[in-house]
Amino acid sequence: MSWTPYVGNGYLSWPEIRAWCRALAEAHPELVHIDVVGESRHGNPLLLLTVARQGDAAPTPVADRSAFWLDGGTHAAEWTGVMSVLFTLSRWIEGLLAGDPDLVDWFSHHAAYVLPCMSPDGYQALHDGAPYLRSTLRPPPEGQLRIGLEPRDLDGDGRVLWMRWRHPAGPYVQDETLPLFMRNRRIDDDPAEAWFVCSEGELLEWDGHRWMAATLRHGLDLNRNFPAAWQPFQMFGMDGGEVPLSEPESRAVVDAVRARPGIACAVTNHTYTGAMLTQPYRSPSPLPAADLDLMEVLARDAVRGTGYRVMRVHPEFVYDPKQDIVGVWADTLSTVLGIPGYTLELWDPFAAAGVENVHPAEFFHLPDEAVLRGLFTRFSGPQPVGPSVSPWQPFEHPQLGPVEIGGLDYMRTVRNPPEDLLAAECERGFTVADRVRRAVPRMSLRLHSQELGGGNHELTAVLENTGFLSTSGLAFAESRGIVPRLSLRLALGPGLERVSGPPSVDLGHLDGWGTMRVAGSRHSLYPDLPSRGHRAVARWIVHGQGTARVRWQGGRAGAGEAERVLAPT
Ligand SMILES: [Zn+2]
Repeated sequence: MSWTPYVGNGYLSWPEIRAWCRALAEAHPELVHIDVVGESRHGNPLLLLTVARQGDAAPTPVADRSAFWLDGGTHAAEWTGVMSVLFTLSRWIEGLLAGDPDLVDWFSHHAAYVLPCMSPDGYQALHDGAPYLRSTLRPPPEGQLRIGLEPRDLDGDGRVLWMRWRHPAGPYVQDETLPLFMRNRRIDDDPAEAWFVCSEGELLEWDGHRWMAATLRHGLDLNRNFPAAWQPFQMFGMDGGEVPLSEPESRAVVDAVRARPGIACAVTNHTYTGAMLTQPYRSPSPLPAADLDLMEVLARDAVRGTGYRVMRVHPEFVYDPKQDIVGVWADTLSTVLGIPGYTLELWDPFAAAGVENVHPAEFFHLPDEAVLRGLFTRFSGPQPVGPSVSPWQPFEHPQLGPVEIGGLDYMRTVRNPPEDLLAAECERGFTVADRVRRAVPRMSLRLHSQELGGGNHELTAVLENTGFLSTSGLAFAESRGIVPRLSLRLALGPGLERVSGPPSVDLGHLDGWGTMRVAGSRHSLYPDLPSRGHRAVARWIVHGQGTARVRWQGGRAGAGEAERVLAPT
């Protein structure tokens, strides 16, 4: 298969995604390398693409580079995030092939690690028309009795839509103007107009009388299985696993990041809302205020022009004010690994529908009827979107008798954009990820020497960070000792000996300009210099003539070296 850039033209299947990634790496081995960093429950490979220029023009080993992490598909239904990852890869590769000077420079000194799909089993199941599921195909616990409605495609149209039947105990009524909108029943509504509504499906272990929901077949939420503040968790019938990292997918992802210490910032793609989620996730946050501010400033820069909002998860994006959101991957990146990590919620169906959803997370518990009406008007109203709408059709249910089946193609309206709007959404995802990519620490080491007489030289090393982020990523990583401090090591070639100065020097960490922007250089009326700064200096007295070599390493900044020939002038 030859490789062609992905331009946002439709939702690919998992086999197509795999083949596309392999074709990319085969077509451009000088730019892309694929590792399999783990296996899903059902044996699908978890593919990690490393994008980096290598060779004579880019000699820094990839392992020594500060880097950006991008992933998608933690949640199986959030296809747009996966597609936006492929779109982003395509933009980078096309730019590199065209010789874009900024990209060529960045990818010569840095790397991007890209994991297109974290839950490939669930992704493909949904692509094949399975009922909605959150993440992976983790089966129900052994011995668990599941009684009640199991969503399933009954009428054979390849989709699981909604099913309704009239009953005076029903909690819904038909909206007066929008046929697919089954609004909440009010006390004044006629009981003869009441309906039950649920997913299309059949009743497991049915006793012939009771209409109730079964527990979910695949109830795992992979984005509650990560270590940050993990505790046993239940919401919307889903759980976060038995213990943190109980799932092969989450374990593989954490191990992959830990094995690449140069990763300095990260974006994990989700849908929907049109929002970049930033810290804190709870109160009090383990992160200092400086880190919260730094992450918010970068998020605001990243979303400029996209129409996306920046939301602090606590308190702006909590589903239930009484329940902390625990075990989240982006939170784990930030508050466990010390790497600024963002959840990007792509696609804003509310904006597409021309309505405002002020509290998008609360919406799941307390849906606003006006917002719902807007969504239904947009996606199933007088000018519905293509094949996304199935009007109610009579159906003879094997257990319930006459029912009606119909609904929205949820996966291509609310959860993800209709296909004609997908490319624009991928473009927004690219814009955000590409800006966060550019925040990594950017290091350079310069060596100076001065002849002192008597065969002695003063050798001075100046290590400098011109990136947005500090060399530790977050200050939290520095204060908790999560990342090694920067150090310099002097190595002298034949003919040179060290007179003074230690062979290795501890430099601590260096500010980035983003760190300064939220500290002393925050204000345009009260400008000031940072208390620490972006440069460190080490000095040695060296005797003789020969080549001195200095190697630096540490933090999220990577490693590097410089050399200087010392000789009498
Ligand atoms: Zn999600």
